[in-house]
Amino acid sequence: MSSDTRPTPTVEDYLGVIYTLARDQQPVIGRRLADWMEVSPPTVTATIQRMVRDGWVTMHADKTIHLTEAGRRAAASVVRRHMLTELLLARVLNVPWSRVHEEADQLEHDLSAETAARVAELLDDTAVCPHGNPLPGEENSVSSLRPLLEAIPGRSYLLARVHEEIERRGDLMSFFEEQGLIPGAALQLVALMPANETVTLRVKDREVTLGLVVARCLWVQEV
Ligand SMILES: [Zn+2]
Repeated sequence: MSSDTRPTPTVEDYLGVIYTLARDQQPVIGRRLADWMEVSPPTVTATIQRMVRDGWVTMHADKTIHLTEAGRRAAASVVRRHMLTELLLARVLNVPWSRVHEEADQLEHDLSAETAARVAELLDDTAVCPHGNPLPGEENSVSSLRPLLEAIPGRSYLLARVHEEIERRGDLMSFFEEQGLIPGAALQLVALMPANETVTLRVKDREVTLGLVVARCLWVQEV
C-alpha cells in the first residue's frame, strides 16, 4: 500500500492521537495509546505493526512511536477535518457542545478535502475547535493560555481550552455542559486542595468541584 492512499478510519484515529501526543511533547508509547483509545495493549501493538508496515509510523529501539512524513501529513489532515467538522456541528447545526466530538468522530473520515476547505471558508475564525484546541498550524493561538491549576484564586478568568484527551469522555462533557463549564465561561478558582486531589471553581453563581486529573486538562485566559 502506498502512503499516498488515505488511511483506514482506525489508522486515522491512531494518527490523530499520536499527532496530539507528539504536539504536546509527550512520549508516544503503546500503553499511552491503549489508555487514550480505551483498547487493549495487544490491539495497539497489532495496529502499530500494520502502521509501521504501511509507512505511517516508525518504532524506535526504546519502543517510542514516531510519525513518518507521510504519517504526519495524514495525521494533520484528519485532525483538521475532525476540528472543522466539530466547528460545523457546533456553529451551524447547533449540535450540543457535549456531543460534537463524538459526532465528528463518525463524520471526519468521510469528509473530502474539498468539503473541509468549504467549511473553513464558510466559518471565520477557525484557529481552534469548539473545545479550544488548536487546528494543526494554529498552535500559537493557545500559547498564551494559563493552565487552570496555575490560576490565582479569586481572580476572574474565562475558560479557554478543554484538552483533546478528555473530549471523548461523553459523560464528563455532559457534566461540563450542565455546569456551564464550556469555553468562554467566566470562572474563578476558589480552592486548590492537593491533599484531596480536587479543585473547586466558581462558575456563574455555583461552585463546581473537579478532580485534579481532569482540572489538569483545562486552560484559562485572563479577563
Ligand atoms: Zn474539539
